[in-house]
Amino acid sequence: MGSDGVKTGWDFDNTYARLPQAFFSFVYPTPVRSPKLAVLNHDLARSLGLDPEALSGRDGAEIFAGNSMPEGAQPLAQAYAGHQFGYFTMLGDGRAILLGEQVTPSGRRYDLQLKGAGRTPYSRGGDGRAVLGPMLREYIISEAMHALGIPTTRSLAVVTTGEPVYRETAKPGAVLARVAASHIRVGTFEYAARWCTFEELKILADYTIDRHFPDPGGPDNTADTGVAELADHSGGRHQPGFVPVNRYHRLLKEVVRRHAELVAKWQAVGFIHGVMNTDNVALSGETIDYGPCAFMDTYDPDTVFSSIDIHGRYAYGRQPGIAAWNLARLAEAMLPLLHEDGNRAVELAQEAVSEFGELFRTAWLRGMRSKLGLFDEEPQDEDLINSLLGIMHRNRADFTNTFRALTYGEDLDIAMFGTDEFRRWKERWQERLGRQKRPESSAFRLMRDSNPVIIPRNHRVEEALEAAEKNGDYSIMEKLVRALSRPYEKTPDKDHYTSPPPPSACRYRTFCGT
Ligand code: AMP
Ligand code: MG
Repeated sequence: MGSDGVKTGWDFDNTYARLPQAFFSFVYPTPVRSPKLAVLNHDLARSLGLDPEALSGRDGAEIFAGNSMPEGAQPLAQAYAGHQFGYFTMLGDGRAILLGEQVTPSGRRYDLQLKGAGRTPYSRGGDGRAVLGPMLREYIISEAMHALGIPTTRSLAVVTTGEPVYRETAKPGAVLARVAASHIRVGTFEYAARWCTFEELKILADYTIDRHFPDPGGPDNTADTGVAELADHSGGRHQPGFVPVNRYHRLLKEVVRRHAELVAKWQAVGFIHGVMNTDNVALSGETIDYGPCAFMDTYDPDTVFSSIDIHGRYAYGRQPGIAAWNLARLAEAMLPLLHEDGNRAVELAQEAVSEFGELFRTAWLRGMRSKLGLFDEEPQDEDLINSLLGIMHRNRADFTNTFRALTYGEDLDIAMFGTDEFRRWKERWQERLGRQKRPESSAFRLMRDSNPVIIPRNHRVEEALEAAEKNGDYSIMEKLVRALSRPYEKTPDKDHYTSPPPPSACRYRTFCGT
């Protein structure tokens, strides 16, 4: 059995299971017929304190399929609600089961969740199962995001179940073992605000603070006036703001800041989440729930890949605004915690959410300046950046390859480079670079470290999934995952993944609920 804690390295705790019963339902995964390990993330396993060799065989397959439990696991499905495409609804883990929290040798705590592990009390009409292709897709893209330096849940393993899953046709079933700082969502707070007591909401907020925002020991102000500098968790970057009036207000402001940083990072690599419903927004500030997400090829702020996003609510260019909207739903859910006076609570909530705009703009500018090799700041930089984006948009330039070509002085068949408007822009950029105090080589290094040479392009991801799904051939996926694991190193193995999709593949569509 796989429950040999000493050999495998499991060190489970179950703090979520000790929250009030309203927040979850105890439920075991439904065993599957013949589990087989499709992929195991050796590096991640090791960093969690697990022995990948011990998990590589039958034991690992049984555990990651949910057929047997790691020692100390106390499986449960989490309750949450959420605004889906703007509409509030009760949800919960309908096909995911949290096994517990693995405590790493360095004392960090991570949720281990099995996605596709069978029905739960929150499954509604669903079968509780997942299809192999989309689980491999989450594996590839979440690991690519991690390698790009973007906070994200990670993928530890995918197991095939040996059972068919019925969608429009019969598909091979699979379970994804997912690792996250936690699975607490904006929707978890919305659930608590709507259906739990004030005491329970407070317990959830205290739990979230303990887990993600350990109190820096700053003042818990009761006098709530005055402008000051926020306690600085920003790695040395100062953000003006109002002093938080209590720990819950501080929590809200921190979540706002983390999401401003997160979405700025998405924008800088052309990542489109695709389904930014509030149940898919993690309080930890990690990217979560890789459904219809995809990376943009041609630069166009209106880019949407998701087949169900008919109105483009979650288009690339709308992601910052939607993030702010989602954070406003969090703020609403937290109102009773912010202040006992209702009007004052609303003021505090609005003030916290209103900081998103400036925090996002600052983070975005920082990211885009780096992409252009700019260390210092000049007032005209925003215009310089937006001019380039405008030219890219008009010329339908490939987002990743444009910045890559600017970094390495390549041509990469980018037609835009031959236009007068680009030449004029380039002169302006060169002049701007010339005014920097630091040598040209540092600008190059900054650009190299900010512009990936590879992203998981849809046609390459599809190629890998097809080989795995149709022929059980994982070699193409393994090669892709390996190349994606060092996205800022220009090595020959990346060349194959550089070209944008052929024109026929341009109308790529992604699907949810698979
Ligand atoms: P998602 O689009 O993956 O974020 O899922 C939205 C909601 O639908 C969540 O509550 C999921 O647990 C639930 N859900 C998605 N697929 C299934 C399924 N096959 N069976 C049961 N619940 C599901
Ligand atoms: Mg979800």
